[in-house]
Amino acid sequence: MSVGTTIKTPAAYISDVMASVKAKNPAEPEFHQAAQEVMDSLRLVLERHPEYISHKILERIVEPERVLMFRVPWTDDHGNVQVNRGFRIEMNSAIGPYKGGLRFHPSVNLGILKFLAFEQVFKNSLTTLPMGGGKGGSDFDPKGKSDSEVMHFCQSFMTELQRHIGPNTDVPAGDIGVGGREIGFMFGQYKRLRNEFTGVLTGKGLAWGGSLIRPEATGYGCVYFADEMLKSRKDKLEGKVCLVSGSGNVTQYTIEKLLDFGAKPVTCSDSNGVIYDPDGINREKLAWLMDLKNVKRGRIKQYAEQFKSAKYTPTEGTMDANPIWNIKADCAFPSATQNEINVKDAANLIKNGCKLVSEGANMPSTLEATRMFLEAKAMYGPAKAANAGGVATSGLEMSQNSMRLAWTREEVDDKLHKIMIAIHKTCFETAEKYGTPGNLVNGANIGGFLKVANAMLDQGLV
Ligand code: NAP
Repeated sequence: MSVGTTIKTPAAYISDVMASVKAKNPAEPEFHQAAQEVMDSLRLVLERHPEYISHKILERIVEPERVLMFRVPWTDDHGNVQVNRGFRIEMNSAIGPYKGGLRFHPSVNLGILKFLAFEQVFKNSLTTLPMGGGKGGSDFDPKGKSDSEVMHFCQSFMTELQRHIGPNTDVPAGDIGVGGREIGFMFGQYKRLRNEFTGVLTGKGLAWGGSLIRPEATGYGCVYFADEMLKSRKDKLEGKVCLVSGSGNVTQYTIEKLLDFGAKPVTCSDSNGVIYDPDGINREKLAWLMDLKNVKRGRIKQYAEQFKSAKYTPTEGTMDANPIWNIKADCAFPSATQNEINVKDAANLIKNGCKLVSEGANMPSTLEATRMFLEAKAMYGPAKAANAGGVATSGLEMSQNSMRLAWTREEVDDKLHKIMIAIHKTCFETAEKYGTPGNLVNGANIGGFLKVANAMLDQGLV
C-alpha cells in the first residue's frame, strides 16, 4: 500500500506525535511519560524504517482502539448507595486479543490506565505469545471493605464489563487491589450472566481453570530477569543484598525467588511506611508477611512489632525521597507502584553502590531516574521486560484453558523461566543491533514495537 504523506525526519515526526499526544490527552502525565520513553527509543528504528512514518504507525499506536468508561453502582454493608467509575482501555489487538490487568485503587483514572495499557502492548509482544494490550479497573478502594462489599462491587463492575470482553476478545487479569478474591467474584458474575464457563479472566483459582505458578509469576519472572542481567556480566544473585518495595503479590514472590537464589532481601513497604530488616527476610518471616497481607489484610508496620530485628520508618507526608531507596544494597526490585523512584531516590541508590534495578512494578522509575541508571551503567531491567512474567503466565493459563488441560507446576515454571530468558535475549540483542549495547530500555521498546508495528502494516488501516 502506498501512502501519500511527506516523510519527516524521525526527530520531527516524534516531536509532532508527542505534541499531539499531549494536546489530545491533557492532564494525563503518566501516559505522556510512558509514550515519551518509548518514542525516545523508536527514533533509532525510524532512521532505518521510514515506512513506519509514512504509515503513521506511531500516531496509531498511541491511540487506543477503544476506551470504555462506565458507572459502577453498589450498596455497602450499611445499605448506603456507592458509585464508582469503571474503565477498560482496549489499546491494541494487532497480535492477539486485548490482555492486561484490572486495577482497583483510589488513584485510578483514565491517564494511569492509558499508560498501563500502552506499556502492556509492548510487554505482551515481548513475551513471544499472541496477546494484544489492554488495561482497566476502577477508583474503588478495596482497603477496609468487607468481603461482602468487595463482592457487591465486583458483581456490579462485571455486569457492565461482561458485554465488552470474552476469551477471544479481551481477557482481563489482576493488578493492584485485584487478587484471587476479586477475580473469583468477577468470574462468578460473568459465568452467571453469560451462562458460559470460559477463560475470560486469568489469575483464576486452581479448581476453576487457573494455572499453577500464575500468582508467583510476576515476582519469579522479575528475579529470573535479574539473574539473566547478572549472567551477562558474569555475576550472580547469590549473596546479594536486595531492596524490595511494596508488600503485595509481586513483592511476596520476588522475595521468595530471591531466597531460592541465595540472595538476601532486607526490605518491604506499603503506602504508609517501610520496614528494614538487616538480618534478612527469611522464609519464616515471609510466611508471616503473606498471612499479614493476604489473610489479615494488615499494615507493614506490624512486621517490625513482630520481628525485633526490623526497623519501621513511616513514609506518610511530603517526603522528597523514599527511605527504602537510601539503604545500602546491591540490587533493587521496585514492586509497589508507578514513579516510586524519583531523581533523589535514583541518586541515593547509585551513591550506595546499587548495581542492578529489576522493575516488578509498572513504570516505577521516573524518566529522569531511568536516564540516571543508564548513565551509571547499572544493570537496568525496565518494567515492560522485567515484569512480563505475570502476563506471560496468564498467556499460558489461556492456552491451558483452550486445550482444557492443566500443566504441572514444574512445566509452567520451566516455560516461564524460558520466556524470561528469551525476553532478556531479545532486549540485549536488540539494544546491540540498534547501536546502544547494554541499554535494555531501547532493547525492550524496540523489540516489543517491531512485532506489533509489522502486524499493523500487514493488516492495513484498521
Ligand atoms: P498488590 O498486591 O495490590 O500490592 C501493591 C503494593 O504496592 C501494596 O503493598 C501497596 O501498599 C503498594 N502501593 C500501591 N499503591 C501505592 C502507592 N500509591 N504508594 C505506595 N505504595 C503503594 O499489587 P501487585 O499486583 O503486587 O502490583 C504491584 C505493581 O506490580 C503494580 O505496579 C502493578 O501494576 C505491577 N504488576 C503486577 C503484576 C501482577 O501480576 N500482579 C504484573 C505486572 C506488573 P498499600 O497496601 O498501602 O496500598
